[in-house]
Amino acid sequence: MSKCKFCGSSNLDFFTAQERMLGLGGEFRYAECQTCGSLQLEIIPVDLSPYYPANYYSFQGLKTSSFLTRLLKTLRMRSFLWLGIQWKVPLYGYWLKKVHTRFNAKIADVGCGNGQLLYELYAGGYRDLHGFDPFIDEEIQISPGLKLWKKRVEESELTFDLIMMHHAFEHMEDPNAVLKSCFGKLNPGGTLLIRCPVADAEVWKTERELWVQLDAPRHLIIPSVKGLMEVAQKTGFELAEVEFDSSEFQFWGTELYKKGMNLDMSKVGMLFTREQLEKLKEKALKYNLEGKGDQVCFYLRKPLKS
Ligand SMILES: [Zn+2]
Repeated sequence: MSKCKFCGSSNLDFFTAQERMLGLGGEFRYAECQTCGSLQLEIIPVDLSPYYPANYYSFQGLKTSSFLTRLLKTLRMRSFLWLGIQWKVPLYGYWLKKVHTRFNAKIADVGCGNGQLLYELYAGGYRDLHGFDPFIDEEIQISPGLKLWKKRVEESELTFDLIMMHHAFEHMEDPNAVLKSCFGKLNPGGTLLIRCPVADAEVWKTERELWVQLDAPRHLIIPSVKGLMEVAQKTGFELAEVEFDSSEFQFWGTELYKKGMNLDMSKVGMLFTREQLEKLKEKALKYNLEGKGDQVCFYLRKPLKS
């Protein structure tokens, strides 16, 4: 590999990182672009399955809600979208309000895992929901208006008003191909929402390969904001907005790795008091405002005429 997958620069520096989430170790060589700052795994293992254990979080069971709970969630979503009432608004409510998505909009979630997020949207009142994940066991119609497809979005006949990728993009190999296929699958004026870690992170700059969201070798690409924007504009997208949405995870996860531990959530309570975790949450909010948090939500719009 000689070029940055984002900006095309040949000015790359290399470093090695270990698998730390499960404690498998190994040595994985990454390139850091000296022009745009994006990161990419140099040699992708032919078989990545040993790094995705059967209990990987995406594949755990779907939690469904009762009719009454769904009704309450729908009312809550409507009162937020239409009246601006912010009462226990789920995170997805803020994304969808920004995109102005109608309840009958066709929405895809790429890398949907067990479909939990789409189920929450269904409970919130959305009725044309499609999950795509080639790694799920089988195709399944969870409820009317919510289907999970065992395939890639580019293999679908459908086109969408909104395509979402929540922490899926960084597991893909070719950012140009991904954005191009999403562009082709969006209706004019539609939005691609990508949430992923970014190399603009202060934690990456200070802790380097101990940064929890480097996540070797599962994360094949980690863009900088600048790098992703180059690919997006080249594809034909207009940038609607970039919003940093990192959490305290960047600090406590990295701290576990600094202490030589795996990503064992049960150890967090031993390392940090409740007050310390609250302080880390505040620190994450501050980092987000300063543009140095470790993950971002990109809103990319396909122009009405392209
Ligand atoms: Zn670059």
